[in-house]
Amino acid sequence: MLIGVPKEIKNHEYRIGLTPAGARELVGHGHQVIVQRDGGAQIGLTNEMYEKAGAQIVDTAEEIFRRADMIIKVKEPQPVECAMLREGQILYTYLHLAPDPEQTKALVASGATCIAYETVTDRKGGLPLLAPMSEVAGRMSIQAGAHALEKAQGGSGVLLGGVPGVKPAEVLVIGGGVVGINAARMAMGMNAHVTILDRSLDRLKYLDELYGDRLTTIYSTRDAIEERLPDTDLVIGAVLIPGAAAPKLVSRENLKLMRPGSVLVDVAIDQGGCFETSKATTHQNPTYEVDGIIHYCVANMPGGVARTSTFALTNATLPFAVQLANKGVQAMLDDPHLLEGLNVHRGKVTYAAVARDLGYDY
Ligand code: NAD
Repeated sequence: MLIGVPKEIKNHEYRIGLTPAGARELVGHGHQVIVQRDGGAQIGLTNEMYEKAGAQIVDTAEEIFRRADMIIKVKEPQPVECAMLREGQILYTYLHLAPDPEQTKALVASGATCIAYETVTDRKGGLPLLAPMSEVAGRMSIQAGAHALEKAQGGSGVLLGGVPGVKPAEVLVIGGGVVGINAARMAMGMNAHVTILDRSLDRLKYLDELYGDRLTTIYSTRDAIEERLPDTDLVIGAVLIPGAAAPKLVSRENLKLMRPGSVLVDVAIDQGGCFETSKATTHQNPTYEVDGIIHYCVANMPGGVARTSTFALTNATLPFAVQLANKGVQAMLDDPHLLEGLNVHRGKVTYAAVARDLGYDY
């Protein structure tokens, strides 16, 4: 199969869908790989590295889309990319179609076979191609929060770990899933005192068994949150109710309970945010203040650490890419978890939730 990897064109997107190591794997399986010139250059993956791995460098996205049997990307295709897709071609990337009727229409019109990373499943019912980005965002949330607590950033001037003789910061993590556990680990590693809230007793039990008395686990209620806010320096919003907007767990009124300069990091902002006062921000301008409380609400946190995120993402996507390259669409018939990723196929929406939300026959 001929596999094409275009340069990402979304604003400030520096990730790439395949690393040189991934290209080498695919070439080793007898496939051809073409990569757009400088596709990984911003994160230190040079054209020479891809060539050494056996890939061919081509100058334009047009050539990639015209020649490739399968396109591997990171972000959802932009309108100019959708227009270049064709019948029978496989597109393997993040799609997030439910809130995006225009993209869905364009993919249906293209006739291509479109596989969304975010809906591929695993044996435990998890989302293995979404999890790496949650790991990145969870770990990064503490780094971002620690920075925002600095005085020059408008924060209260508290050091997460304290020092001998001065108590550490209090970190409250709401939601103990993939983002939450990664945030908690980082905060504990920096010697902060960490409390984690969840609605799942099984999850709280798991966290308790894992970390013992280093981590305080509490069942998540409004009361539990309000009780802790006066003593909390940094709150991480990490909840997810699959398929629904994030619940608002900290109200504007609640901000009055907090010390001025305390920080809210809303990782769930990509699902609308779990604090009433959250609004999406960018890496260029990540924070703003409401009633003396600093908010960090970057919707694409992994993009800020594009090099790490590229390796984390491609570690998870590559095994499926190899299956797809070896077997074509038959790979999905052989693997029900990969089949869950199929969102659009030959002019039809093939994912129930997207069809339902956007009014397509299913
Ligand atoms: P996850 O499903 O692994 O974990 C979510 C957890 O929230 C679950 O354990 C669930 O029981 C818990 N929960 C649900 N309602 C709750 C409540 N009321 N109180 C406390 N806990 C509650 O999800 P995840 O992978 O950790 O993702 C969390 C959020 O982070 C999602 O919205 C995801 O889209 C988002 N995310 C954002 C970025 C970004 O760049 N901003 C990157 C990755 C993930």
